[in-house]
Amino acid sequence: MKTYLVGGAVRDAMLGLGVKDRDWVVVGADARQMEAEGFKAVGRDFPVFLHPKTREEYALARTERKSGHGYTGFEFHAAPDVTLEEDLLRRDLTINAMAMDESGQLIDPYQGARDLENRCLRHVSAAFAEDPLRVLRVARFCARYHHLGFHIAEETQALMGAMVESGELAHLVPERVWQETLSALGEPDADHYFKVLSDCGALGVLMPEIEVALERLQQLPLRALRLAQEQALPSLHRFALVSLQSLAATEEDCTALQRLAERLRVPQEFRELALMFNRHLPELHQPASQAESLWQLLEQLDGLRRPQRLQQLLECARLLGELLQCSSLPTSVLGLLEQARSIDARALMQQGIQGAALGEALRQRRIELARQWIEQQPRQGASHG
Ligand code: ATP
Ligand code: MG
Repeated sequence: MKTYLVGGAVRDAMLGLGVKDRDWVVVGADARQMEAEGFKAVGRDFPVFLHPKTREEYALARTERKSGHGYTGFEFHAAPDVTLEEDLLRRDLTINAMAMDESGQLIDPYQGARDLENRCLRHVSAAFAEDPLRVLRVARFCARYHHLGFHIAEETQALMGAMVESGELAHLVPERVWQETLSALGEPDADHYFKVLSDCGALGVLMPEIEVALERLQQLPLRALRLAQEQALPSLHRFALVSLQSLAATEEDCTALQRLAERLRVPQEFRELALMFNRHLPELHQPASQAESLWQLLEQLDGLRRPQRLQQLLECARLLGELLQCSSLPTSVLGLLEQARSIDARALMQQGIQGAALGEALRQRRIELARQWIEQQPRQGASHG
């Protein structure tokens, strides 16, 4: 039995990048042998084991045969006679299909090193087309390595387009689409994930709501995403920005966004921020000059109870305001909410104010604070931000 380091660890080491997780492939062994050596079986879909000490993943060398749709529609064959070259052949990209043996010798039957040198993402074999997830993986690698000068090989680009045409992408489970998208959002050039998907037609199939809005807004959401990357805003903000539907969203726009979020099972936190951002963008960019309306907006945004989300919302609005060269409700409004929260209701009660009158008295005090806050802001025409 022989073990080889494979995949991302080999690739990233050759790129001079830090290696996050190490994947291993084992040739010439079967499950019984692995367990006898103390490895723990963890794979549900294929034979993968955890090393008893390092907890790193060791997979038996295997070949795959397409047996159904989507990325789970495979039959695999793992046996001691499967060679390393056969195992590497089933992998997505040549730069991911290199292995290194215990002595540090590189095994590179599909010219991954050459492609790495040329900064080229190229599929290993025609079997690439059998798993639609690979389209998303290529887009994600673009988001990750764009800054290093990587591009997609022409023939791989053509194959990705053909895969979209074939309708195979419809078989991707929504959770995997979101998982890849979330990982891509955290990459240095997340906008390239969406660009690549749009270019091959996949975005129109998987996230038509974003595709349509990109066209309608002349790529503004991608420019916003770029700026968010430059300013190191988190993925939560990035998703809200890239899912911008319109500068003055209609009910239909909001429904479209909701549909996208439900289909991809987008987590609540991401969904809420994106929806709120879309829904309230006009008021965030044209903050009310009247204390009552300002307070009403802060209530609609649930600012008293959810100051952190309001802050995220203000950060998104500020960023888009920078691009559009317009002002937006400044984050100092959080200070106003802080003051409003510390109004002492008990002191009011001790003055004999109760029930509905207490609610009204609180409201009046909050509006008074809002009035004072507005007065402190620079006059109209000057930037709020
Ligand atoms: P990362 O740095 O994100 O871990 P990685 O290339 O190691 O990148 P993994 O998802 O850890 O990606 O997969 C390990 C290896 O398994 C890949 O390098 C690739 O060779 C292979 N692989 C993973 N997913 C697929 C897939 N859907 N189709 C073909 N090969 C795949
Ligand atoms: Mg990996």
